[in-house]
Amino acid sequence: MKLIFEKSVEGRQGSVVADSGVPDKTGLIPEKFLRSSLELPEVSEVDIVRHYTKLSTMNYGVDSGFYPLGSCTMKYSPKINEETARLPGFALTHPLQPVELSQGNLELMFNLEKMLCEITGFERFTLQPAAGAQGELTGIMIIQAYFRKKKEKRSRILVTDSSHGTNPASVSICGFEAVEVKSDSKGNVDLVDLKQKMSKEVAGLMLTNPNTLGLFDNNIIEVCKIVHSRGGLVYCDGANLNAILGKTKPADAGFDIIHLNLHKTFSTPHGGGGPGAGPVGVTKELARFLPKPLIEKKGNRFVFDYSSKDSIGKVKGFYGNFGVLVRAYTYIKSVGGSGLKRVSENAVLNANYLLARLKKTYHLPYNRFCQHEFVLDDKNLANGVTTMDVAKRLLDYGFHAPTVYFPLIVHGAIMIEPTETESKETLDAFAEAMEKIVSEAKENPELVKNAPSKTIVGRLDAVKAAREPILKWQQKN
Ligand SMILES: *Cc1c(COP(=O)(O)O)cnc(C)c1O
Repeated sequence: MKLIFEKSVEGRQGSVVADSGVPDKTGLIPEKFLRSSLELPEVSEVDIVRHYTKLSTMNYGVDSGFYPLGSCTMKYSPKINEETARLPGFALTHPLQPVELSQGNLELMFNLEKMLCEITGFERFTLQPAAGAQGELTGIMIIQAYFRKKKEKRSRILVTDSSHGTNPASVSICGFEAVEVKSDSKGNVDLVDLKQKMSKEVAGLMLTNPNTLGLFDNNIIEVCKIVHSRGGLVYCDGANLNAILGKTKPADAGFDIIHLNLHKTFSTPHGGGGPGAGPVGVTKELARFLPKPLIEKKGNRFVFDYSSKDSIGKVKGFYGNFGVLVRAYTYIKSVGGSGLKRVSENAVLNANYLLARLKKTYHLPYNRFCQHEFVLDDKNLANGVTTMDVAKRLLDYGFHAPTVYFPLIVHGAIMIEPTETESKETLDAFAEAMEKIVSEAKENPELVKNAPSKTIVGRLDAVKAAREPILKWQQKN
């Protein structure tokens, strides 16, 4: 497909700007800023409309098809969330507007915080962080502030070998040393390894539960006890809450801190680095360290409270990505308490339905009931067909690929998260495509190795794309 620049025809115009009546011979505007010197495409309105409409169909999204990207919770996001986020009263407010004129916005944030506390069991939340990774960073900074206040020097933080890459990264950015804790043969935290590594040098443990294998750690209470017994704090990576909404509260298991991804579990569209929200929740003991400002209710008014002296400060401009907060609030309100419970029940049911079917053709390294997702490996793929080949071939069948090669502890991992919003028919169609690919690998491996063949572009050189990105069009002279 041609670029809009390549469709340019000299003199063609999409709109006619009325003469401003200002003589253009004043010489006040430097030559290089004049319209005639800008290299803009010259196209008609219909060319523009067709160009961008066509571009929009070349993308793949949750609104166009099944998107089983493990750990990313690509659920369908109801359009009502978009409608409320676009209400002028929300969309047109300015963050510097006086608090008296932003009472509705503050009330929404105040109530959203209360709902997140109810869902997770924590005492207070900050809504500031812009994403899961920034939530982690905020959480680790809180851990740091906690030990600084206690005048204890602790230099290490434990992360599990199945953890999301952002976990050790957040730990390192904060100046701690990340130390890996092993998983046992069932996919839980290896308690022997944890006991060995949990010393007075260690500030805490970062843990995802259910973890990135989609497994709920049966020893979670014991895990928290071990860390606490040596004075450490336990951080919950709660990016994926889809399996436990309305079922269990992480604070009850003994976690001290959590971050949530509103742009996963709470139904905000995401991907491509768009705006997200990674609220961080803490126990009563840690609330004093949360970023400022917090939102308080004084009589009938909502106010920003900047008074905390132990706060780690601000972590984001203004008050977070407000539009994302509106979407999450709408989602929770429209689904309701019992609805959230059904979300997790259906997310777990859908994942186990697919698991039960696919483990007949694919190898399942941790053979247990799963939570919201599960991980297959590449053992049963014939003729040197790899996980990457399967992912690419799925595109030919019209599905987005699952997450691949993560978590690192599974060889050739294929991580599938169907989410609760998919029908049985969609799951069956996906399973059928997955099964066909296993047969194709046996009978016609080249077909799979050269996939995709039906997409707009073929197999891309992912390494080259990452190392030598070409991010803008350059006119050939
Ligand atoms: C997505 C995810 C993160 C990071 O969240 P971002 O919003 O992408 O920064 C962290 N941990 C887990 C388990 C995740 O799935």
